Amino acid sequence: MKKVLVLEDEAAIRSFLVINLKRSGYEPLEAGTGAEAFEQLRLNPDVKVALLDIMLPDTDGFEVCRKIRASGSKMGIIMLTARTQEMDKVTGLMTGADDYVTKPLASIAELTARVDALYRRVGGDDLAETGEVVRGPFRLNTRNRTLEKNGERIRLTQVEYAIVKLFMDNPGKALSREEILASVWGEDYVGDLKIVDVNIRRLRLKVEDDPQTPSCITTVWGYGYKWGF
Ligand code: CA
Repeated sequence: MKKVLVLEDEAAIRSFLVINLKRSGYEPLEAGTGAEAFEQLRLNPDVKVALLDIMLPDTDGFEVCRKIRASGSKMGIIMLTARTQEMDKVTGLMTGADDYVTKPLASIAELTARVDALYRRVGGDDLAETGEVVRGPFRLNTRNRTLEKNGERIRLTQVEYAIVKLFMDNPGKALSREEILASVWGEDYVGDLKIVDVNIRRLRLKVEDDPQTPSCITTVWGYGYKWGF
């Protein structure tokens, strides 16, 4: 189940959020205080997204956000701000929030769209459940070994698929050409590292908007390559 923590002390707003998140296929976990929120997170370490109200009886949402981040968690965090002041947004960003929703909610569709987007971004599309990894515009299906960009199928060779999978398993990490070679071609492969470059070049023609100025697969000079999503 896709668990979402809902920290909101006003019962009416909380149940409104809970009902709508349930409708969208989530399993909301309710908390009315900071203490309850941390108890929920302790009991449910698989929470991927949290909605945090700011004004709370025992603490404030920024502090909760700060503590979640201090624990090393990379879960998606959406602040529920009652005001629209820029200050709240800046404070939220400083404490590690990913997004904001202003109360009263203009539309529940907007909120669930943001929860969906964040859930995808933090890798909440559970690989074990769906066999899919979604990052930015890309959707990798590990069952049928396919890749889509913005919903369009990209035809890959088995080697290209293995390279993309390796990148997606290591988001934001620069991979050396040696690592790529060993992982995709196998430790025993005897050959030139240039085969990595050749495949990356061909892959760029398929995945980049502009292969001349790559933004998906960037070169780390003298080392290797990095996947941008
Ligand atoms: Ca409140």
